[in-house]
Amino acid sequence: MAESAVVNRKRSGTDDVVSENDGKRKNVVAPDMDPAAALALTRHEFGEHGGVNMSIEASATFTVMEPETLCRMFTGELGPDRDFFIYSRHFNPTVLNLGRHMAALEGTEAAYCTASGMAAISSVLLQLCSSGGHVVASTTLYGGTHALLTHFLPGKCNISTTFVDISDLESVESAIVEGKTNVLYFESMANPSLKVANIPELCRVGHAKGVTVVTDNTFAPMVISPARLGADVVVHSISKFISGGADIIAGAVCGPASLVNSMMDLHDGSLMLLGPTMNAKVAFELSERIPHLSLRMKEHCHRALVFATRLKKLGLKVIYPGLEDHPQHELLKSIANREYGYGGLLCIDMETVERANLLMAHLQNDAQFGFMAVSLGYYETLMSCSGSSTSSGMTEEEQKLAGISPGLVRMSIGYIGTLEQKWSQMEIALDRFQEKQPLV
Ligand SMILES: *Cc1c(COP(=O)(O)O)cnc(C)c1O
Repeated sequence: MAESAVVNRKRSGTDDVVSENDGKRKNVVAPDMDPAAALALTRHEFGEHGGVNMSIEASATFTVMEPETLCRMFTGELGPDRDFFIYSRHFNPTVLNLGRHMAALEGTEAAYCTASGMAAISSVLLQLCSSGGHVVASTTLYGGTHALLTHFLPGKCNISTTFVDISDLESVESAIVEGKTNVLYFESMANPSLKVANIPELCRVGHAKGVTVVTDNTFAPMVISPARLGADVVVHSISKFISGGADIIAGAVCGPASLVNSMMDLHDGSLMLLGPTMNAKVAFELSERIPHLSLRMKEHCHRALVFATRLKKLGLKVIYPGLEDHPQHELLKSIANREYGYGGLLCIDMETVERANLLMAHLQNDAQFGFMAVSLGYYETLMSCSGSSTSSGMTEEEQKLAGISPGLVRMSIGYIGTLEQKWSQMEIALDRFQEKQPLV
Protein backbone atom coordinates (compact mmCIF):
# COMPACT_ATOMS: atom_id res chain seq x y z
CA MET A 1 0.00 0.00 0.00
CA ALA A 2 1.47 3.29 -1.07
CA GLU A 3 0.90 6.75 0.31
CA SER A 4 -1.62 7.22 -2.51
CA ALA A 5 -3.99 4.86 -0.77
CA VAL A 6 -4.18 7.39 2.00
CA VAL A 7 -4.31 10.26 -0.47
CA ASN A 8 -7.15 8.60 -2.41
CA ARG A 9 -9.14 8.42 0.75
CA LYS A 10 -8.94 12.15 1.04
CA ARG A 11 -11.82 14.22 -0.19
CA SER A 12 -11.33 16.72 -2.95
CA GLY A 13 -12.88 19.80 -1.37
CA THR A 14 -11.33 20.61 1.98
CA ASP A 15 -14.21 22.61 3.38
CA ASP A 16 -13.71 21.40 6.89
CA VAL A 17 -15.08 23.85 9.37
CA VAL A 18 -12.12 23.54 11.73
CA SER A 19 -9.87 25.02 9.10
CA GLU A 20 -9.01 28.60 9.85
CA ASN A 21 -5.87 28.92 7.74
CA ASP A 22 -7.16 31.70 5.51
CA GLY A 23 -9.45 33.25 8.11
CA LYS A 24 -12.46 32.90 5.81
CA ARG A 25 -15.73 31.31 6.82
CA LYS A 26 -15.68 27.92 5.17
CA ASN A 27 -19.17 26.96 6.16
CA VAL A 28 -20.81 29.33 3.72
CA VAL A 29 -24.25 30.14 5.00
CA ALA A 30 -25.95 33.50 5.29
CA PRO A 31 -25.93 34.71 8.90
CA ASP A 32 -29.73 34.97 9.03
CA MET A 33 -30.36 31.66 7.33
CA ASP A 34 -33.02 29.24 8.52
CA PRO A 35 -31.26 26.48 10.49
CA ALA A 36 -32.85 23.66 8.46
CA ALA A 37 -31.80 25.38 5.23
CA ALA A 38 -28.25 25.76 6.55
CA LEU A 39 -28.17 22.08 7.52
CA ALA A 40 -29.26 21.03 4.04
CA LEU A 41 -26.31 22.95 2.59
CA THR A 42 -23.64 21.16 4.59
CA ARG A 43 -21.55 18.58 2.80
CA HIS A 44 -23.15 15.15 2.74
CA GLU A 45 -20.66 12.51 3.75
CA PHE A 46 -21.06 9.16 1.95
CA GLY A 47 -19.94 5.80 3.28
CA GLU A 48 -16.65 4.25 2.27
CA HIS A 49 -18.42 1.89 -0.17
CA GLY A 50 -20.83 4.46 -1.54
CA GLY A 51 -23.40 4.00 1.19
CA VAL A 52 -25.82 6.90 1.49
CA ASN A 53 -24.81 7.18 5.14
CA MET A 54 -21.27 7.96 6.21
CA SER A 55 -19.07 5.19 7.53
CA ILE A 56 -18.24 5.19 11.21
CA GLU A 57 -14.57 5.86 11.88
CA ALA A 58 -14.53 3.66 14.96
CA SER A 59 -10.78 3.65 15.48
CA ALA A 60 -9.15 5.13 18.53
CA THR A 61 -5.89 5.66 16.70
CA PHE A 62 -4.78 6.38 13.12
CA THR A 63 -1.82 5.11 11.13
CA VAL A 64 0.50 7.00 8.82
CA MET A 65 2.76 5.89 5.95
CA GLU A 66 5.86 7.88 6.92
CA PRO A 67 7.27 8.55 10.40
CA GLU A 68 7.69 12.24 9.50
CA THR A 69 3.94 12.56 9.03
CA LEU A 70 3.41 11.79 12.71
CA CYS A 71 5.85 14.55 13.69
CA ARG A 72 4.14 17.00 11.37
CA MET A 73 0.78 16.13 12.91
CA PHE A 74 2.09 16.78 16.42
CA THR A 75 3.48 20.19 15.46
CA GLY A 76 0.02 21.04 14.13
CA GLU A 77 1.22 21.36 10.54
CA LEU A 78 -1.04 18.52 9.37
CA GLY A 79 -4.48 18.42 10.93
CA PRO A 80 -8.07 17.30 10.49
CA ASP A 81 -8.74 20.04 7.93
CA ARG A 82 -6.46 18.03 5.63
CA ASP A 83 -7.80 14.70 6.88
CA PHE A 84 -4.90 13.87 9.18
CA PHE A 85 -5.99 12.42 12.49
CA ILE A 86 -3.91 11.45 15.52
CA TYR A 87 -6.11 9.91 18.19
CA SER A 88 -9.88 9.97 18.75
CA ARG A 89 -9.82 11.88 22.06
CA HIS A 90 -8.41 14.61 19.87
CA PHE A 91 -10.29 14.89 16.54
CA ASN A 92 -12.25 11.98 15.06
CA PRO A 93 -13.74 12.23 11.52
CA THR A 94 -17.18 10.91 12.46
CA VAL A 95 -17.45 13.20 15.48
CA LEU A 96 -16.13 16.06 13.37
CA ASN A 97 -18.87 15.44 10.83
CA LEU A 98 -21.55 15.74 13.50
CA GLY A 99 -19.77 18.92 14.62
CA ARG A 100 -20.06 20.28 11.09
CA HIS A 101 -23.82 19.78 11.28
CA MET A 102 -24.01 21.38 14.72
CA ALA A 103 -22.09 24.38 13.32
CA ALA A 104 -24.58 24.65 10.45
CA LEU A 105 -27.53 24.32 12.83
CA GLU A 106 -26.25 27.19 14.96
CA GLY A 107 -24.60 29.24 12.23
CA THR A 108 -21.15 29.15 13.81
CA GLU A 109 -17.80 28.73 12.13
CA ALA A 110 -17.05 25.43 13.90
CA ALA A 111 -18.37 23.02 16.50
CA TYR A 112 -17.17 19.97 18.35
CA CYS A 113 -19.17 17.37 20.18
CA THR A 114 -18.72 16.27 23.75
CA ALA A 115 -19.68 13.36 25.98
CA SER A 116 -22.45 15.40 27.67
CA GLY A 117 -23.94 18.85 27.87
CA MET A 118 -22.10 19.44 31.15
CA ALA A 119 -18.83 18.46 29.43
CA ALA A 120 -19.47 21.15 26.81
CA ILE A 121 -20.34 23.78 29.41
CA SER A 122 -17.48 23.03 31.81
CA SER A 123 -14.87 22.73 29.02
CA VAL A 124 -15.86 26.04 27.47
CA LEU A 125 -15.80 27.86 30.81
CA LEU A 126 -12.43 26.36 31.70
CA GLN A 127 -11.03 27.34 28.31
CA LEU A 128 -12.30 30.92 28.53
CA CYS A 129 -11.54 31.57 32.22
CA SER A 130 -8.30 31.15 34.12
CA SER A 131 -7.75 31.11 37.87
CA GLY A 132 -8.92 34.50 39.13
CA GLY A 133 -11.40 34.75 36.29
CA HIS A 134 -15.00 35.86 36.57
CA VAL A 135 -18.33 34.92 35.02
CA VAL A 136 -21.52 36.95 34.96
CA ALA A 137 -24.41 34.52 34.72
CA SER A 138 -28.18 34.51 34.73
CA THR A 139 -29.92 33.68 38.02
CA THR A 140 -32.09 31.20 36.13
CA LEU A 141 -30.01 28.30 34.86
CA TYR A 142 -30.03 24.52 34.56
CA GLY A 143 -29.34 23.08 38.05
CA GLY A 144 -26.05 21.42 37.02
CA THR A 145 -24.70 24.63 35.51
CA HIS A 146 -25.79 26.56 38.58
CA ALA A 147 -23.93 24.10 40.82
CA LEU A 148 -20.83 24.23 38.60
CA LEU A 149 -20.72 28.03 38.87
CA THR A 150 -21.67 28.19 42.55
CA HIS A 151 -19.59 25.36 44.00
CA PHE A 152 -17.16 23.66 41.66
CA LEU A 153 -15.53 26.52 39.74
CA PRO A 154 -14.90 28.82 42.73
CA GLY A 155 -13.78 25.94 44.96
CA LYS A 156 -11.51 24.09 42.56
CA CYS A 157 -10.46 26.72 40.05
CA ASN A 158 -10.78 30.13 41.72
CA ILE A 159 -13.30 31.22 39.07
CA SER A 160 -16.10 33.26 40.60
CA THR A 161 -19.58 34.08 39.34
CA THR A 162 -21.94 36.98 39.86
CA PHE A 163 -25.56 36.00 39.22
CA VAL A 164 -27.83 38.66 37.75
CA ASP A 165 -31.36 39.02 36.45
CA ILE A 166 -30.58 39.14 32.73
CA SER A 167 -33.78 41.00 31.90
CA ASP A 168 -32.25 43.94 33.79
CA LEU A 169 -29.56 45.04 31.31
CA GLU A 170 -28.20 47.69 33.64
CA SER A 171 -27.43 45.16 36.36
CA VAL A 172 -25.79 42.92 33.74
CA GLU A 173 -23.63 45.82 32.64
CA SER A 174 -22.63 46.81 36.15
CA ALA A 175 -21.83 43.22 37.13
CA ILE A 176 -19.28 42.92 34.30
CA VAL A 177 -15.86 44.03 35.54
CA GLU A 178 -13.79 45.11 32.56
CA GLY A 179 -10.49 43.29 32.44
CA LYS A 180 -11.65 40.67 34.97
CA THR A 181 -14.92 39.24 33.64
CA ASN A 182 -14.33 36.69 30.90
CA VAL A 183 -17.77 35.34 30.16
CA LEU A 184 -21.41 36.43 30.10
CA TYR A 185 -23.42 33.21 30.41
CA PHE A 186 -27.17 32.62 30.04
CA GLU A 187 -29.73 30.23 28.54
CA SER A 188 -31.67 31.31 25.44
CA MET A 189 -34.83 29.92 27.05
CA ALA A 190 -34.17 29.26 30.68
CA ASN A 191 -34.72 26.08 32.60
CA PRO A 192 -37.34 25.80 34.05
CA SER A 193 -38.77 29.33 34.07
CA LEU A 194 -38.88 29.54 30.24
CA LYS A 195 -37.60 33.09 30.55
CA VAL A 196 -36.35 34.20 27.13
CA ALA A 197 -33.04 36.05 26.90
CA ASN A 198 -32.81 39.28 24.96
CA ILE A 199 -29.81 37.92 23.09
CA PRO A 200 -29.08 40.91 20.79
CA GLU A 201 -29.12 43.36 23.71
CA LEU A 202 -27.13 41.09 26.04
CA CYS A 203 -24.50 40.67 23.32
CA ARG A 204 -24.35 44.41 22.81
CA VAL A 205 -23.75 44.95 26.54
CA GLY A 206 -21.27 42.08 26.81
CA HIS A 207 -19.28 42.93 23.70
CA ALA A 208 -18.99 46.60 24.68
CA LYS A 209 -17.17 45.35 27.79
CA GLY A 210 -15.06 42.81 25.94
CA VAL A 211 -16.52 39.57 27.33
CA THR A 212 -17.31 36.36 25.47
CA VAL A 213 -21.04 35.69 25.33
CA VAL A 214 -21.89 32.02 25.88
CA THR A 215 -25.49 30.84 25.42
CA ASP A 216 -26.99 27.47 26.31
CA ASN A 217 -29.55 26.75 23.56
CA THR A 218 -30.64 23.29 24.81
CA PHE A 219 -34.30 24.33 25.22
CA ALA A 220 -34.68 25.93 21.82
CA PRO A 221 -32.72 24.34 18.97
CA MET A 222 -34.11 25.53 15.60
CA VAL A 223 -36.45 27.93 17.44
CA ILE A 224 -33.71 30.37 18.49
CA SER A 225 -30.30 30.79 16.85
CA PRO A 226 -28.20 32.64 19.46
CA ALA A 227 -25.07 32.91 17.30
CA ARG A 228 -27.10 34.42 14.47
CA LEU A 229 -28.24 37.02 17.02
CA GLY A 230 -24.69 37.83 18.14
CA ALA A 231 -23.63 35.22 20.71
CA ASP A 232 -20.02 34.09 20.42
CA VAL A 233 -20.49 30.54 21.65
CA VAL A 234 -23.54 28.27 21.76
CA VAL A 235 -23.51 25.19 23.98
CA HIS A 236 -25.97 22.32 23.82
CA SER A 237 -27.04 19.32 25.76
CA ILE A 238 -27.65 17.07 22.75
CA SER A 239 -29.19 14.59 25.23
CA LYS A 240 -32.48 16.51 24.91
CA PHE A 241 -34.28 17.65 21.73
CA ILE A 242 -31.41 17.06 19.32
CA SER A 243 -31.15 13.39 20.29
CA GLY A 244 -34.89 13.09 20.80
CA GLY A 245 -34.63 9.50 21.98
CA ALA A 246 -33.81 9.92 25.68
CA ASP A 247 -31.20 7.22 25.12
CA ILE A 248 -27.96 9.20 24.65
CA ILE A 249 -26.00 11.65 26.78
CA ALA A 250 -24.12 14.12 24.58
CA GLY A 251 -23.27 17.77 24.10
CA ALA A 252 -21.66 20.28 21.77
CA VAL A 253 -19.72 23.51 21.72
CA CYS A 254 -20.47 25.69 18.69
CA GLY A 255 -18.35 28.77 18.12
CA PRO A 256 -15.37 30.28 16.33
CA ALA A 257 -12.83 27.82 14.88
CA SER A 258 -10.15 29.50 17.00
CA LEU A 259 -12.03 28.56 20.20
CA VAL A 260 -12.78 24.99 19.11
CA ASN A 261 -9.18 24.51 18.07
CA SER A 262 -7.90 25.97 21.35
CA MET A 263 -10.09 23.53 23.29
CA MET A 264 -8.51 20.69 21.29
CA ASP A 265 -4.95 21.96 21.70
CA LEU A 266 -2.62 19.09 22.57
CA HIS A 267 -0.86 21.12 25.27
CA ASP A 268 -3.54 23.23 26.94
CA GLY A 269 -6.92 22.43 25.44
CA SER A 270 -9.66 21.80 28.01
CA LEU A 271 -11.49 19.19 25.91
CA MET A 272 -8.29 17.45 24.86
CA LEU A 273 -6.82 17.31 28.36
CA LEU A 274 -9.90 16.75 30.51
CA GLY A 275 -11.06 14.31 27.85
CA PRO A 276 -14.88 14.40 27.70
CA THR A 277 -15.02 13.97 23.93
CA MET A 278 -17.73 12.07 22.09
CA ASN A 279 -17.55 8.47 20.96
CA ALA A 280 -17.69 8.02 17.15
CA LYS A 281 -20.49 5.44 17.32
CA VAL A 282 -22.61 7.89 19.31
CA ALA A 283 -21.78 10.64 16.80
CA PHE A 284 -23.00 8.44 13.97
CA GLU A 285 -26.32 7.70 15.68
CA LEU A 286 -26.88 11.36 16.37
CA SER A 287 -26.05 12.30 12.77
CA GLU A 288 -29.01 10.18 11.67
CA ARG A 289 -31.37 12.19 13.90
CA ILE A 290 -30.37 15.73 12.93
CA PRO A 291 -32.20 15.63 9.55
CA HIS A 292 -35.59 15.30 11.25
CA LEU A 293 -34.90 17.70 14.12
CA SER A 294 -36.82 20.51 12.39
CA LEU A 295 -39.91 18.31 11.91
CA ARG A 296 -39.78 17.16 15.52
CA MET A 297 -39.32 20.68 16.88
CA LYS A 298 -42.31 21.97 14.91
CA GLU A 299 -44.57 19.26 16.35
CA HIS A 300 -43.23 19.66 19.93
CA CYS A 301 -43.86 23.42 19.65
CA HIS A 302 -47.26 23.10 17.99
CA ARG A 303 -48.62 20.77 20.64
CA ALA A 304 -47.11 22.80 23.48
CA LEU A 305 -48.90 25.92 22.19
CA VAL A 306 -52.25 24.12 21.81
CA PHE A 307 -52.05 22.56 25.28
CA ALA A 308 -50.86 25.79 26.90
CA THR A 309 -53.72 27.73 25.34
CA ARG A 310 -56.35 25.18 26.42
CA LEU A 311 -54.94 24.79 29.94
CA LYS A 312 -54.92 28.54 30.40
CA LYS A 313 -58.54 28.72 29.28
CA LEU A 314 -59.39 26.31 32.09
CA GLY A 315 -57.98 28.86 34.52
CA LEU A 316 -54.68 27.14 35.27
CA LYS A 317 -51.54 29.17 35.80
CA VAL A 318 -49.61 28.30 32.66
CA ILE A 319 -46.16 29.57 31.78
CA TYR A 320 -45.45 29.34 28.05
CA PRO A 321 -43.57 31.85 25.90
CA GLY A 322 -46.10 31.34 23.10
CA LEU A 323 -48.88 32.82 25.23
CA GLU A 324 -49.42 36.56 24.96
CA ASP A 325 -49.30 37.00 28.73
CA HIS A 326 -45.72 35.63 28.91
CA PRO A 327 -43.38 38.53 29.77
CA GLN A 328 -41.07 37.77 26.84
CA HIS A 329 -43.70 36.77 24.28
CA GLU A 330 -43.07 39.77 22.02
CA LEU A 331 -39.31 39.44 22.46
CA LEU A 332 -39.39 35.78 21.45
CA LYS A 333 -41.54 36.61 18.44
CA SER A 334 -38.96 39.16 17.35
CA ILE A 335 -35.90 36.90 17.72
CA ALA A 336 -37.27 33.41 16.90
CA ASN A 337 -36.77 31.72 13.56
CA ARG A 338 -39.96 31.65 11.50
CA GLU A 339 -42.33 28.70 11.55
CA TYR A 340 -40.87 26.65 14.38
CA GLY A 341 -43.04 28.00 17.17
CA TYR A 342 -42.33 28.98 20.75
CA GLY A 343 -40.61 25.96 22.25
CA GLY A 344 -41.61 22.47 23.30
CA LEU A 345 -41.86 23.03 27.06
CA LEU A 346 -44.57 24.51 29.18
CA CYS A 347 -44.95 24.89 32.93
CA ILE A 348 -48.04 24.72 35.11
CA ASP A 349 -47.76 26.40 38.47
CA MET A 350 -49.81 24.21 40.83
CA GLU A 351 -48.70 26.33 43.80
CA THR A 352 -47.77 23.53 46.21
CA VAL A 353 -45.61 20.48 45.74
CA GLU A 354 -48.53 18.27 46.91
CA ARG A 355 -50.83 19.58 44.18
CA ALA A 356 -48.03 19.28 41.61
CA ASN A 357 -47.40 15.67 42.58
CA LEU A 358 -51.09 14.82 42.55
CA LEU A 359 -51.51 16.21 39.02
CA MET A 360 -48.44 14.36 37.71
CA ALA A 361 -49.58 11.10 39.31
CA HIS A 362 -53.00 11.31 37.62
CA LEU A 363 -51.43 12.30 34.30
CA GLN A 364 -49.12 9.31 34.34
CA ASN A 365 -50.97 6.58 36.23
CA ASP A 366 -54.61 7.19 35.29
CA ALA A 367 -54.40 8.85 31.90
CA GLN A 368 -51.11 7.74 30.27
CA PHE A 369 -50.51 11.36 29.26
CA GLY A 370 -46.78 11.19 29.94
CA PHE A 371 -44.02 10.01 32.23
CA MET A 372 -42.77 11.43 35.51
CA ALA A 373 -39.12 11.89 34.63
CA VAL A 374 -36.57 14.62 34.38
CA SER A 375 -35.10 15.62 31.02
CA LEU A 376 -36.84 16.86 27.88
CA GLY A 377 -37.09 16.56 24.14
CA TYR A 378 -38.40 12.98 24.13
CA TYR A 379 -41.26 11.84 21.88
CA GLU A 380 -43.32 11.04 24.99
CA THR A 381 -44.26 13.86 27.33
CA LEU A 382 -41.95 14.10 30.36
CA MET A 383 -43.05 15.83 33.56
CA SER A 384 -41.14 16.87 36.65
CA CYS A 385 -41.56 19.17 39.57
CA SER A 386 -38.45 21.33 39.16
CA GLY A 387 -38.15 22.64 42.72
CA SER A 388 -37.91 19.16 44.18
CA SER A 389 -35.92 17.54 41.34
CA THR A 390 -33.49 19.15 38.87
CA SER A 391 -33.30 22.44 40.74
CA SER A 392 -33.39 20.96 44.26
CA GLY A 393 -29.71 21.83 44.74
CA MET A 394 -30.67 25.49 44.85
CA THR A 395 -31.62 27.15 48.14
CA GLU A 396 -35.19 28.41 48.65
CA GLU A 397 -33.97 31.94 48.00
CA GLU A 398 -32.11 30.94 44.81
CA GLN A 399 -35.19 29.09 43.59
CA LYS A 400 -37.31 32.16 44.20
CA LEU A 401 -34.86 34.32 42.23
CA ALA A 402 -34.93 31.78 39.41
CA GLY A 403 -38.73 31.90 39.30
CA ILE A 404 -39.23 28.35 40.54
CA SER A 405 -42.37 28.04 42.65
CA PRO A 406 -42.55 24.85 44.77
CA GLY A 407 -45.53 23.59 42.72
CA LEU A 408 -44.05 24.27 39.30
CA VAL A 409 -44.63 21.30 36.98
CA ARG A 410 -42.38 21.39 33.95
CA MET A 411 -43.64 19.48 30.93
CA SER A 412 -41.69 18.61 27.84
CA ILE A 413 -44.50 18.00 25.37
CA GLY A 414 -44.11 14.89 23.24
CA TYR A 415 -45.50 14.22 19.78
CA ILE A 416 -46.52 10.58 20.10
CA GLY A 417 -50.16 9.72 19.35
CA THR A 418 -52.59 12.28 18.04
CA LEU A 419 -52.99 15.70 19.56
CA GLU A 420 -56.67 15.18 20.45
CA GLN A 421 -55.95 11.75 21.93
CA LYS A 422 -53.34 13.30 24.23
CA TRP A 423 -55.63 16.21 25.13
CA SER A 424 -58.42 13.82 26.14
CA GLN A 425 -55.90 12.06 28.41
CA MET A 426 -55.08 15.43 29.96
CA GLU A 427 -58.80 16.00 30.56
CA ILE A 428 -59.14 12.63 32.30
CA ALA A 429 -56.29 13.56 34.66
CA LEU A 430 -57.76 16.99 35.36
CA ASP A 431 -61.16 15.40 36.15
CA ARG A 432 -59.56 12.94 38.59
CA PHE A 433 -57.71 15.82 40.23
CA GLN A 434 -60.92 17.80 40.63
CA GLU A 435 -62.63 14.85 42.30
CA LYS A 436 -60.17 15.41 45.17
CA GLN A 437 -59.67 19.16 45.22
CA PRO A 438 -60.38 22.29 43.19
CA LEU A 439 -58.21 22.67 40.13
CA VAL A 440 -57.86 26.42 40.46
C1 LIG B 1 -29.72 18.79 30.56
C2 LIG B 1 -29.16 20.15 30.44
C3 LIG B 1 -27.79 20.38 30.55
C4 LIG B 1 -26.81 19.28 30.87
O1 LIG B 1 -26.69 18.38 29.82
P1 LIG B 1 -26.24 16.83 30.00
O2 LIG B 1 -26.25 16.33 28.60
O3 LIG B 1 -27.25 16.17 30.88
O4 LIG B 1 -24.89 16.86 30.61
C5 LIG B 1 -27.34 21.67 30.40
N1 LIG B 1 -28.18 22.69 30.15
C6 LIG B 1 -29.51 22.51 30.04
C7 LIG B 1 -30.39 23.68 29.77
C8 LIG B 1 -30.04 21.24 30.19
O5 LIG B 1 -31.37 21.07 30.10
